[in-house]
Amino acid sequence: MTSYVYDFAEGNKDMADLLGGKGANLAEMTRLGLPVPAGFTVTSAACRQYLTTGRAPAELDRQIRLHLTSLERSCGRLLGQAADPLLLSVRSGARHSMPGMMETVLDIGLNDYAVLGLARSAGNERFAWDSYRRLVQMFGNTVMQVDGAVFEDALTRLKEQCQVADDTRLDTAELIRLVETYKDLIREHAGEAFPQDPAEQLRRAILAVFASWNADRARLYRRREHIPDDLGTAVTVQRMVFGNLGPDSGSGVAFTRDPATGRPGVYGDYLPNAQGEDVVSGTRNAVPLQELQRLDPHSYNRLLAHMRQLESHYRDLCDIEFTIERGVLWMLQTRVGKRTSQAAFAIAGQLAQEAVISTEEALERVDGEGLARLMFPRFDTSATSEVLARGTPASPGAAVGAAVFDSAEAVRRSADGEKVVLVRQETTPDDLPGMIAAEAVLTSRGGKTSHAAVVARGMGKVCVCGTGSITVNEAERAFSTAGATIREGTVISVDGSEGTVYRGAVPLVESEVMRSFETGRPHPGKDAAQVVTDVHRLLAQADATRRLEVRANADTPQDAARARRFGAQGIGLCRTEHMFLGDRRPLIETMILAHTDAEREAALAALLPLQRQDFIEILQAMDGFPVTIRLLDPPLHEFLPDRTELAVRAAQREARGQDTDPHDHELLRAVNRMRETNPMLGLRGVRLGLVVPGLVAMQVRAVAEAVVARIRADGDPQPEIMVPLVGAAQELTLVREEVERVWTHVTSAAGITVTCPVGTMIELPRAALTAGRIARNADFFSLGTNDLTQTTWGFSRDDVEAEFFSAYLDKNIFERSPFETIDREGVGRLIELAVAEGRESRPGLTVGVCGEHGGDPDSIHFFHRAGLDYISCSPFRVPVARLEAGRAAQRSSTGPQDG
Ligand code: ADP
Ligand code: MG
Ligand code: MG
Repeated sequence: MTSYVYDFAEGNKDMADLLGGKGANLAEMTRLGLPVPAGFTVTSAACRQYLTTGRAPAELDRQIRLHLTSLERSCGRLLGQAADPLLLSVRSGARHSMPGMMETVLDIGLNDYAVLGLARSAGNERFAWDSYRRLVQMFGNTVMQVDGAVFEDALTRLKEQCQVADDTRLDTAELIRLVETYKDLIREHAGEAFPQDPAEQLRRAILAVFASWNADRARLYRRREHIPDDLGTAVTVQRMVFGNLGPDSGSGVAFTRDPATGRPGVYGDYLPNAQGEDVVSGTRNAVPLQELQRLDPHSYNRLLAHMRQLESHYRDLCDIEFTIERGVLWMLQTRVGKRTSQAAFAIAGQLAQEAVISTEEALERVDGEGLARLMFPRFDTSATSEVLARGTPASPGAAVGAAVFDSAEAVRRSADGEKVVLVRQETTPDDLPGMIAAEAVLTSRGGKTSHAAVVARGMGKVCVCGTGSITVNEAERAFSTAGATIREGTVISVDGSEGTVYRGAVPLVESEVMRSFETGRPHPGKDAAQVVTDVHRLLAQADATRRLEVRANADTPQDAARARRFGAQGIGLCRTEHMFLGDRRPLIETMILAHTDAEREAALAALLPLQRQDFIEILQAMDGFPVTIRLLDPPLHEFLPDRTELAVRAAQREARGQDTDPHDHELLRAVNRMRETNPMLGLRGVRLGLVVPGLVAMQVRAVAEAVVARIRADGDPQPEIMVPLVGAAQELTLVREEVERVWTHVTSAAGITVTCPVGTMIELPRAALTAGRIARNADFFSLGTNDLTQTTWGFSRDDVEAEFFSAYLDKNIFERSPFETIDREGVGRLIELAVAEGRESRPGLTVGVCGEHGGDPDSIHFFHRAGLDYISCSPFRVPVARLEAGRAAQRSSTGPQDG
């Protein structure tokens, strides 16, 4: 027969699926011999059955009665007996902690007779009636569905009549009146009387806790936290202990160390003469836990000893609830506590050092997202500021600036040196200049994959989106909240890690962790040094464990140098298109407009020394590490002025009676000629190299000459040339011939022998499908997962993310954008195929990834399992990638595989 009820003595901490976190940990504390009021837990299986069929299991009533009887026997008291009655709490507790989302009813067992018995046995009438009114209120609200405000209003009215501010000041007679009022209210609103039968109270309270699993707020919380809806909650029934018996009683919450910093010590709050809920509800002011040392040193010392025992038993930070009843300490709850990222690193690091946990376990307890959060500047949380709004924390970090309402204003003000926050209903690609100029982006609409969120994350900009509580009026240049209107120019602070918007400039503190990477040495200072040490210790552990190498995507010497400081082992993607922009644009224009070979060659020759210098500097910054240089990828017309702009210029001249500027005229013709309906699928990548004579040769020559220069300067350049957008083996073969021709020409002329691997990107489904053939002529593969995702799904990333991704996410077509996390089912299969067939035809083929997924923790775990050699990501993301690559290696060698 199925057991639906477990005594505390029968459970343990590993039974949370069945007993919920609360029930499992109460059982564990009982086993450890800590003072836990006796009780039992009804399983989540019983709840699931109740929720799906509308009826509790037939056996449940009998099992509860049996456990209740033995509880009564062990307490020497009966539920509902007139003298010294046993009282119970009925508590919710699911597998995953859902703080405050479900219900708990205290003081079950009181009725019009038992309250008198309780008064006598406790020698305290006021306490008995206070407990009774709490029960009637909680039961009326939770079980009988009477609006909580009905009771609150009655209580407020009574306090006014009695002219007291605090309900601890109500005397016995007044509490008796209150209980009567509450019972009347229940009859009025629920259409039945408050049940006097304790057994009925217990039974109905348990079912009400089951039902609270499906309360609106609980559902909402689960959706946000990705907790499945079908788990159900367990229900714990426990003997009451009383913190409200007078000044020698009280209740409190405590942490075994500081959940903000991870530092060991005593942290918590204590409220004398109070029952559970009072501490958290904030109706009365609690005192710091240390006060208890003065108030009740005996209980304080016992509490500390229990906390030490719990921390070493759980080998982690624990948070606990306790109550003191007339000088006797009772433990009411414990769990492994939530913590900040900083505390996560500190605790994992310290416990590993103390050999409480293994270094492997330490690595399991931190993660890349947490590290990323530690790298952003943060608000000084000790400063108090007015919260204007809360939205979705879309891109972490903290930023301060004047609110502006369009892109142009953002650009204008930031050009004058002002820091701005771009506030929009939502952003579009037209807002890009403003987003670049702004410190942060704040939107009222859109979720984590809205345009604003995606672009901001890509740029490492702070972003809070979907802030429904603000109304953005772009025309009036203001946004309003329930209580305030914020006009353009008002300084606001945006916390992208928390999703909070403040009025005014909240002071910022630079991240010590970031500084330690930037300067290559931990910053001195007490607090600062510790988090830095913690982070670097765990990173070293990850480095020692990982198989994946970590490279960076870097196009400039500055980025390359930073990547190296952050621990990159090379460049996985050096894009050359950026080297064609800015003041070099005219040169590329000339090349595009060239009528003759001679003109084109002249333009290319002018570009050559500039490119060469770029490569020299990048190779120098990455000396001794591989640098993968990608040949020009985007369509050439991206280097020409915008068509509309040219047309407008021509129209204006015409209106003024001037002739068209001949250069503009030619540009416009070229733009018209080269216009493409789907530029993403047009003349770009390897196709450019094959149809624009001289382009590949110039780029290869620039690389080769840079290598020669570096060798002459005693450097150790390790270039690799990468061909983009290959779809057929023949394309690569043709380009490769040209690369080798130029390479040999330059290096042999210089009298130097240095090889340069030539590889290809795999970013078209056809490339993945024919990887075996392509590999014959490729020294390496680099997975271009951005384009591979676009072309596999047929999604144009810039268009779809703003247009309909939020609808797709709502409809559960995918849980996360495939541009954020690799789509294992589709794109992932192509990757596995490419790796397998590529290595089959060329054993030992190096395979890396250079798409943005290279910096995404989930994707990194996939790449590890797919057998890749390296991942490449933005320089700032390198530490995150190192950490996650280490965790991935460890998980596949020890733990269960996810997904
Ligand atoms: P939550 O999950 O919201 O914290 P709990 O089940 O922990 O709900 O209970 C709410 C409050 O009631 C807590 O402060 C808890 O310590 C207190 N409480 C629960 N059971 C008892 C009990 N048997 N005796 C005294 N206080 C209790
Ligand atoms: Mg609790
Ligand atoms: Mg690409």
